[in-house]
Amino acid sequence: MTTAIKSWTLSAEQQELLIKSCFEAKEFSYSPYSKFRVGAALLTTDGRIIKGANIENASYGGTICAERTALVKAVSEGIRSFVGLAVTTDVAAPTSPCGMCRQFIREFCSNEMPIILVPGDYYDTGEDSKKVPIQVTNLGELLPFSFGPEDLELPRKPS
Ligand SMILES: [Zn+2]
Repeated sequence: MTTAIKSWTLSAEQQELLIKSCFEAKEFSYSPYSKFRVGAALLTTDGRIIKGANIENASYGGTICAERTALVKAVSEGIRSFVGLAVTTDVAAPTSPCGMCRQFIREFCSNEMPIILVPGDYYDTGEDSKKVPIQVTNLGELLPFSFGPEDLELPRKPS
């Protein structure tokens, strides 16, 4: 087989850049209601970082998550090719994207693209710190048997 297989492995530098960037993004979280800050960072195929934070609204349904903020920022600027996503919160354990974000990610990212879930205490350096490691997953794991754009291209009975 000579099929080129795209590697979805991030370098250590790319991973650290994504982690640093999602923490930076979290600083701009607007979450006065939940007080649950979330930061997300996307790494584009051409090496750019696009950051997003959760932005809440007094009309709660108007709230947008950090992951969708980052994707909307990127896509609305013509960027649709990504190699990784990192997400962090203030929880000292990996926190994974909500269902709505998983579907939103599905629209623009490969099932194999690494998604790095970073505990909020990643940079803490306490002696008694019981740090949980980062979790590297992907959309295929987070949203199995998913429905995506290509499903709309499947042949079907005319309506
Ligand atoms: Zn979400």
